[in-house]
Amino acid sequence: MQTSTLAANGKLNISDIMKSEGESRKISCNLADFSTGEWNYSDLFVTGAVRNNAGRIELECDVNAIISGPCSRCSRDFHKNMTAQIDEFLSENEQEPSSEYFYGFAVDLQGLAAEALILATPIAERCEECEKDIDTEGKINGGT
Ligand SMILES: [Zn+2]
Repeated sequence: MQTSTLAANGKLNISDIMKSEGESRKISCNLADFSTGEWNYSDLFVTGAVRNNAGRIELECDVNAIISGPCSRCSRDFHKNMTAQIDEFLSENEQEPSSEYFYGFAVDLQGLAAEALILATPIAERCEECEKDIDTEGKINGGT
């Protein structure tokens, strides 16, 4: 499988994959850092594949990143690794993309990765020490 090349703007060109059924490309690339205001996401790295499955373009990737921001419990800044999954498809026949990130012969991999990471971020993200404290409290209180 060939590795796909990514444009500098985070768009994945899929024109050659759309042309022939069974065609596929490996994806392995870095993407730009971004911030939601509360959280900063850096060291974005995407691995996976895009394939043409009988005219349906399937995109499956893992996104790895480092999330940093204030702990929801102790407010200290912390950072940790996180992963998220991208699982999207575009049916050429129906012309109904499963998401707004498909258009023409390109996929907005940067947009998909950002959305996947934001969705995978817990509402109350805690630092490692607070996670440990909560585990301990849970055990003391007879929790699991
Ligand atoms: Zn904390």
